[in-house]
Amino acid sequence: MEQTDPKINIPFNRPFIIGNELEYIQDAVLSGIISGNGKYTKKCQEFMEKYLPSPHMLLTTSCTDALEMSALICNIQPGDEVILPSFTYVSTANSFALRGAHLVFVEIREDTLNLDERLIEAKITKKTSAIVPVHYAGVACEMDMIMDMAAFYGLTVIEDAAQALAAKYKGRNLGTIGDFGTFSFHETKNIICGEGGAISINNQKYRATADIVWEKGTNKREFSQGDVDKYEWLKLGSSFLPSDILAAFLYAQLENIEKIINRRQQIFERYHRALLPLERKGLLKVPSVPPECEISYHLFYLMLNDSQTRNALLHYLQSQGIMAIFHYIPLHSSPYGSRYGFKRDQLPITVRISERILRLPFYYELSEQDQDLIIDTIETFFINY
Ligand SMILES: *Cc1c(COP(=O)(O)O)cnc(C)c1O
Repeated sequence: MEQTDPKINIPFNRPFIIGNELEYIQDAVLSGIISGNGKYTKKCQEFMEKYLPSPHMLLTTSCTDALEMSALICNIQPGDEVILPSFTYVSTANSFALRGAHLVFVEIREDTLNLDERLIEAKITKKTSAIVPVHYAGVACEMDMIMDMAAFYGLTVIEDAAQALAAKYKGRNLGTIGDFGTFSFHETKNIICGEGGAISINNQKYRATADIVWEKGTNKREFSQGDVDKYEWLKLGSSFLPSDILAAFLYAQLENIEKIINRRQQIFERYHRALLPLERKGLLKVPSVPPECEISYHLFYLMLNDSQTRNALLHYLQSQGIMAIFHYIPLHSSPYGSRYGFKRDQLPITVRISERILRLPFYYELSEQDQDLIIDTIETFFINY
């Protein structure tokens, strides 16, 4: 494993504890209930409902699960077409592919790396049932246009807000604008519990179904609330509830959300300030944030001029003990994704971006000293390149 290599000093990510994580876990364990939908699950859901605000939140075991839940709730059927970017994490695609959906990839915008809203309409057919905008790096997709289009054609919108908790579009929190919004608390995200996620049910018509799908396709939630005297199998569902031990950890993190985002903003701005001069010299590009967006400061990427430079910088940083990484291998040209009939060259921006992007170490406890070391190392690379 690269992370245990003694030469490596700065990992790409490092999970952290910020408040009462361990106390709350102990409390959950001693309370005698550590399965799902316990005290801390409810606290997390209520916190997020108030914070976002969201009309209805359900905690899940991951954002992947939240996305899979959304596909079950809106009853995606084999052959239904789902529109999404190819430049995203596999879970965005898997969740709908699992239901037999036909995936229709859309090109991204060069400035935000989000799916290009102007190209969506041309992809809509009679079989289209959903659009899945992914808010890359917590920068909002053009939600006004996407929602208008979805309303006009009668489509469901599922926001993949895995990276976007606390980010806003025109003052509204991401994940609360579409019919559903999905969040991640994976240890690499801003707010963490190891593995975890949540789904915001924004469209009231899906609320009852969501509760049933969440509880393995049964009305156990109603039963737990004393509304019915037995629970039974009503729909297709699965086990989407995290243990209350994880929710206990998560609740301590949520209580510190402002502090976490503020620290991440400092890290982001420090990178941005220090590396902007390299952009002015034409050596790379730093992220730009559209004026109508407040971002979540989830990640910091550099866009190099070509793939050779990206790879050389990546290797140089790693040789100096700095674990920079890149992503995503475009889904449309990956071994499984190629079945959806896209040629590699069909989405040239996606391909070009994925070859030139580089992500720098970014975590809550990244020290200014380490950050300066990363910045100095990048500057040294360009002096010698
Ligand atoms: C991290 C991520 C996911 C998956 O989240 P998990 O909680 O690990 O399942 C999905 N989509 C995007 C865009 C992500 O960044």
